[in-house]
Amino acid sequence: MPTYDYRCCDCGKHNSIYQAYEDYGVTSVVCQYCASVKLERVISRIRVARSDESRIESLADPSAWGDIDESDPRSMAKMMRKMGTELGEEMPPEFNEVIDRLESGESPDAIEKSMPDPGMNDSF
Ligand SMILES: [Zn+2]
Repeated sequence: MPTYDYRCCDCGKHNSIYQAYEDYGVTSVVCQYCASVKLERVISRIRVARSDESRIESLADPSAWGDIDESDPRSMAKMMRKMGTELGEEMPPEFNEVIDRLESGESPDAIEKSMPDPGMNDSF
């Protein structure tokens, strides 16, 4: 079971709470120190800052799913790559190109604008 990190809004203490994926966001979490239910999720940026080698290791770690930061292109790239792996399907070249560009730090918006969309040809 993965650990999720929370900060208590009442006592300010840090809580690491084990939760099943299906319980995350569904079951309410309670502060282990003061029993407050006002916990906010702490998004860890540590994984993103790691070296490439350990980043590959963290891909194999299911708890990496809990640390997606949508404002961070590299974090999104990690999620997309993992999604492709989970699906077990050959992803189209465009998919991998988007991941590469996210990993190089391009914003998702900029990539989306520059990518040809086969379904939107009539908008030209
Ligand atoms: Zn507390």
